[in-house]
Amino acid sequence: MLHIRDKGLCQRCLKDKRIVKADVVHHIKELIDYPELALDESNLEPLCHKCHNRIHKKRETTDKKLNKNYVIEFEANQELL
Ligand SMILES: [Zn+2]
Ligand SMILES: [Zn+2]
Repeated sequence: MLHIRDKGLCQRCLKDKRIVKADVVHHIKELIDYPELALDESNLEPLCHKCHNRIHKKRETTDKKLNKNYVIEFEANQELL
């Protein structure tokens, strides 16, 4: 785990050729499903908060979409008044 911290760069940003300091270590496979991978380096990905949030948001898009549509409809009605 130490050498991953030493790298200290967000791997997603790095792929986009951006050098961003990693703030968190993301577990590629959820520990709930794969508790035995908790310390497996191949399951760890250093990420910045931005990329990390994006990954976790993707997993709940269905919920988010429903909420968003509701908000947009609500705002549209407000404008009509
Ligand atoms: Zn990033
Ligand atoms: Zn994560």
